This record gives sequence, C-alpha cells and structure tokens, in this order.
Amino acid sequence: MKCEIIAVGSELLTPYRQDTNSLYLTEKLNEIGVIVHFKTIVGDRHRDLVNAVRAALARVDLVCVMGGLGPTEDDLSREAVAEALGVEVHRDPQLIAALAARFAERRIPMPENNLKQTDIVEGAKVIPNAKGTAPGLWLDTKFAGHRKLIIMVPGPPSECKPMFADECIPRLRAIIPVRHIAKRVLKATMIPESTADALLAPIYTTYKDVETTILAGNAEIQLHVTCAKPVLEEAQMRVDELASRMEEALDQHLYSSHGESLEQIVIYYLEMKQETLAVAESCTGGLLAQRLTSISGSSRSFLGGAVVYSNELKTDFANVPHELIEAHGAVSAEVAEAMAQGIRRRVGASIGVGITGIAGPGGGTETKPVGLVYVAVSYNGKTESMECNFRGDRDRIRLWASQQALDLIRR
Ligand code: ATP
Ligand code: MG
Repeated sequence: MKCEIIAVGSELLTPYRQDTNSLYLTEKLNEIGVIVHFKTIVGDRHRDLVNAVRAALARVDLVCVMGGLGPTEDDLSREAVAEALGVEVHRDPQLIAALAARFAERRIPMPENNLKQTDIVEGAKVIPNAKGTAPGLWLDTKFAGHRKLIIMVPGPPSECKPMFADECIPRLRAIIPVRHIAKRVLKATMIPESTADALLAPIYTTYKDVETTILAGNAEIQLHVTCAKPVLEEAQMRVDELASRMEEALDQHLYSSHGESLEQIVIYYLEMKQETLAVAESCTGGLLAQRLTSISGSSRSFLGGAVVYSNELKTDFANVPHELIEAHGAVSAEVAEAMAQGIRRRVGASIGVGITGIAGPGGGTETKPVGLVYVAVSYNGKTESMECNFRGDRDRIRLWASQQALDLIRR
C-alpha cells in the first residue's frame, strides 16, 4: 500500500518549526508494511490544501492529513478534504454533545468556535482523541473510481502520535494484508560514498524485493536494508543474504553489521581482546576520549589519556623528546608515534594512540596544509602511524581524525 503524508500548518514552512510528526507516522506505517512514497507540507491556505489532497489521492492509496483540525479560522483540513472529494461537511450531533460535556466537566463555558471541531466530512468515521478536543477522521472512500483511505489527525505531537499509534494503526492492520518488515543497518567508514556505491550497487540492485538506502555523513556510511514480506522469517532471510554479500564487498571498511557505533565496536573489541587503551590527543582536543567514554562500560578497557596541545606538554606528559619536535615539527609521523608510545608507557596500557594535526582554518603551510593529520598506534612492541589529508572545516577535520584513530584501533 502506497502512502502520502500531508503535514498542514504555515508554521511548518517557516525556519522555526519542523514537521517531525511525519517521522513518527512513517515509523509506525513501516512497521505494518506501508511505505511512504510522498510527504507534502502545505500552509494553512484552503486552495493549496485542496490541490495537495487531490494530488495525493491521484498517486497513492492512503493519505494521512495531519494538522488543521483545530477550532480556529486557519484550521481548514476538513473543508479542504471535503472539497477535494466533492462532498459536504456537517456538524455531528454526537460530537457536539461530547464536546459540551467536556467543557461542562471542566466548568468553563465553551467558546462558539469550538463547534468547528464537531464538523465531519460526509462519510467519515470519528477517531477519538484521548489527549485533546479535535477528533480525528477516517474516510474509506473513492476517488476517480479507485478505493482510497484518508486519515485525518491533529497536528500537536502529543495528540497526533497517540491517536495514530493507538487508533489508526490497529484499524489499518485490520484491513491491509499483513506485511512484516525486516531491517538491518550496516556501517562502514574511511571509504568515499561513491566508491562504496560502485562496489555495492551491482549487488543490491539485483535484490528487487529489498530496499537499500545509502546515507553518508559524520565520517561514516550507513546502509539501511529493509524488506517487507507476509512472513517475517522470509523477509529476514532476504535482508541477511543481501547484507552478508555487501559486508563481504565492503571488507575492512565495514565495522558494524547491526547498527552499532564505531566507538561501541572499539570498546567491544578491546574487551574481547582484553586490551587496555590510553590516548594522547593534540588537534582533536579530547574528542577521541569523549567518544570512547560515551560508551557505558568503557572504563573496563579505556584507561584515559591527555590533551597534549602545547609542545611542552607533549614532552612533559607524553615523553615526546624535545629534539624530535625540533627536527620534524609537532605535526609529523615521528611525533604522533612518540605520543602513542609515550602515553602507553606512562599510563601502563597495552595500546597507545597519538593524534597530531592541523585542524585549521589557520596554521597551514605549503608543506603542512590544513587537514594534515598523523594518527599513530603503539601496540605489542610496534608503533605505526598513518598520514591523512582531510578536507573541510575545523569540526570536520577533528571528527575525521578521531574516526581514523578509532578505525585503526579496531583493526
Ligand atoms: P490541530 O489539528 O489540533 O488544530 P494544528 O496543527 O492545526 O493541529 P496548531 O495549533 O497549528 O494545530 O499546532 C499545534 C502545535 O503542533 C504547534 O506547536 C505546531 O508547530 C505543532 N505541529 C503541528 N504539526 C506538526 C508536525 N507535523 N510536526 C511537528 N509539530 C507539529
Ligand atoms: Mg496548524
């Protein structure tokens, strides 16, 4: 079943408010196998709304209209849906009685405009609102000769979400064929998105019944793999089969098969191998330690470290020989390696990491440009470093530097 969500509200077209409800609706719809093909955001303007509803009815089977059910002049969803279908709205006596009782209970007079909330589109069934006064509407109707479902829910998230999950989803479940969705999230890092897609597209495009979405950002690539089938085990089997082929293609770049973060994987790895870790950070200023300590239980393997920003601290704290800095500069493979070794010995960890680089925007030179970072790992009597040339602003370079360090530790 194809679905479109129409979010109604002029505020959703300003820089100050986002349509976040539709993310929740999409999640709930996906759980029962309904795929959202379109999302539309429309301001509180009657003509625009009518057009949006008509366009949606022409291209999907289920239209969820969200917002514009309130009592004020700018709440126009009922009238717009009625006009799109060529029917009337009428005031519902039962709703009037229920609303009057609600106000009476709270001992406050009911403002006249509240009656607008008792309007229902001809042919609609009322969906009760446990959290507010605007009832939802359920329309099982026809448009241009085809069966269409229209669900109307209020906009305030505190009303919209429970009404959708507790009232609408069970009703939908009862009338649509049961579909179960299996999902996996794979994550890879230190590989450009285009390279990953060139590796993976020949594989995932042959799985027509499985949907693969590539999301790149925050120094990683996520692959969301989903499949909907009448039987969950069948869907899971298809997802697992495709996932394992993509894992193989991504090889060393793959770090997570079930959505875990890179820091989570590093902590698992350290625990499994019974290793302990210490870090000496310069350009990342503690970002690596921050990411590691964001994982609960990390104290069993991450011992700590230091932000050795100045050359003096690199020497005093991480035992980097002063002459080494003089000879090669603070941003060099030699210094990164000495930092890794120095901090490992000083803290008594089995693995030491050193990071030094130029995060910019200033400080770059012809031979040592902004984005040049050295990451070193000292382990098992050996110290190795890697030269990286990251692009972007200060935040991005620091993030990638911490990412590269985590990636080297898990390898
Ligand atoms: P109702 O049908 O109850 O009148 P409405 O959207 O017309 O809903 P508003 O008064 O316009 O009611 O909005 C109430 C609050 O809900 C506002 O803070 C608004 O930003 C928020 N809201 C409305 N729609 C959404 C949405 N799609 N996502 C997130 N917040 C929303
Ligand atoms: Mg609104």
